[in-house]
Amino acid sequence: MNFCNQCSASVSIQIPEGDNRPRYVCDECHTIHYQNPNIVAGILPIKVNPDGEDQVLLCRRAIEPRYGYWTLPAGFMENGESIEQGARREAEEEANLSVEDCHLYMIASIPFANQVYMLFTGLISNDDYSSGVESLEVQLFTEAEIPWDEIAFATISKSLKCYFADRKVHAGHHFPLHNVVFEKKGEPSRE
Ligand SMILES: [Zn+2]
Repeated sequence: MNFCNQCSASVSIQIPEGDNRPRYVCDECHTIHYQNPNIVAGILPIKVNPDGEDQVLLCRRAIEPRYGYWTLPAGFMENGESIEQGARREAEEEANLSVEDCHLYMIASIPFANQVYMLFTGLISNDDYSSGVESLEVQLFTEAEIPWDEIAFATISKSLKCYFADRKVHAGHHFPLHNVVFEKKGEPSRE
């Protein structure tokens, strides 16, 4: 940050009185510009197949970063919505997908990227899903079909691995919450 978004004057890094961290502070209007983690809300969409193996829906990214890689419908929360509303909105925007019976499934803290992922499971409730503007294609996958080498982000791989493990030991579609921390790129360091 170089300039104040309130008055356009320059900002400098200072520790405000009563604070213990450096912040961007406007040199003119003295507004303190706090910077906090962004929340990514998303859905792990499950296609329930009563006569066979359930499938999950992935989207192939039409945007950077990780163009062409597969991901779950997920994106930054907007002001004025709940986490679940944000997750459902992303499913709608990226895959024209409706889900029901949503349950919070994974909280993934990524301190080095200043992000927190909050992923829900949700049961797909429409058959006419299709790729939205941020997706090249959307597709259902069984566990054996998951393109593990082409998954966009470690958080997404982790949530899929947890899901496939959980559904082997839990009947139904409600699973325990996973609280995961990624302290560096790659595998989570704590859970
Ligand atoms: Zn200012």
